[in-house]
Amino acid sequence: MSESAQPETTQPGTAQPAGPIAFLGLGHMGGPMAVNLVKAGYTVTGFDVVPAALDAARAHNIPTADTAAEAVAGAAVVLTMLPSGKHLLDAYRGTGGEPGLLEVAGPGTMFLDCSTINVDEAREAAELAVAAGHRSVDAPVSGGVVGAEAGTLTFMVGAPEEDFGAVRPLLEVMGRRVVHCGGHGAGQAAKICNNLILGVSMIAVSEAFVLGEKLGLTHQALFDVASAASGQCWALTTNCPVPGPVPTSPANRDYQPGFAGALMAKDLKLALNALESTGVAARLGPLASEIYDTFAAEGGAGRDFSGIITDIRDKSAH
Ligand code: NAD
Repeated sequence: MSESAQPETTQPGTAQPAGPIAFLGLGHMGGPMAVNLVKAGYTVTGFDVVPAALDAARAHNIPTADTAAEAVAGAAVVLTMLPSGKHLLDAYRGTGGEPGLLEVAGPGTMFLDCSTINVDEAREAAELAVAAGHRSVDAPVSGGVVGAEAGTLTFMVGAPEEDFGAVRPLLEVMGRRVVHCGGHGAGQAAKICNNLILGVSMIAVSEAFVLGEKLGLTHQALFDVASAASGQCWALTTNCPVPGPVPTSPANRDYQPGFAGALMAKDLKLALNALESTGVAARLGPLASEIYDTFAAEGGAGRDFSGIITDIRDKSAH
């Protein structure tokens, strides 16, 4: 980030416009996040490889560039919100003879990646950025499209202290909670550890409800007990997989996401990769990854991940 890009204040929620931001990846999440930056007064130039995403961005008053290089030229911050680590590393390095973003960007540019990717890929991206004379922050999010639109995302940030301080005002425009988790890659690590808990706990809650059904318990009775006992968890009390006890949970709207099964399957694959590369003797994580892969492949990709309960019920003996 150049001198002129330093945010002038770190007051929560009152970030001053920083230097120009290149926003790459204007999809479900990136589109509304970019809108919030524009509304807050930041100078944003958006780019996406899909023309429809560029059209949608312009319709929301986000100026766009015709190429990534054009968006990045003169930017103080390069913010990416891409599908995977491969997309990110390809964009950083360049493909097909095209120069990568790290080459095109001016010296000392802040590379801020908010995509959800492998921890190892995040560390590699940071190493590449720093080796090219830039700064690097990983800041994956939770909160989904609703959080992106409302500016209420949670950011989990991996970066040296001073880089965290530099991007914090910007993140506070797009989110409500910004947590500094450690150095490069720590944001991604926190994200997949959390989602490992979430994925496994949703399966446990769902199995318990199906077992309760078999044993003649009403959903409400099990909820009333478990939500005030040691079975209490977010999967039960906020995203309850059966309709009724929590009226706002996706189960009450035929499992419309919410947090889609495809994204849970993706995040558990990232957790699985990290479990394997670190040699953790995990058993539930790999199993949960397999369970959500099957769920996603058998029609659950676009449904809320709590729809896993219908899978468990359907596959149970009748
Ligand atoms: P998406 O597919 O809607 O958007 C990604 C966008 O990146 C697409 O528009 C695609 O065309 C664009 N893109 C790909 N390569 C590009 C490149 N080289 N340059 C510019 N644009 C490029 O995905 P999304 O739902 O917005 O998710 C983005 C990231 O956020 C993912 O890593 C996802 O795991 C994570 N995430 C998503 C959610 C969610 O609820 N959707 C929640 C938390 C985290």
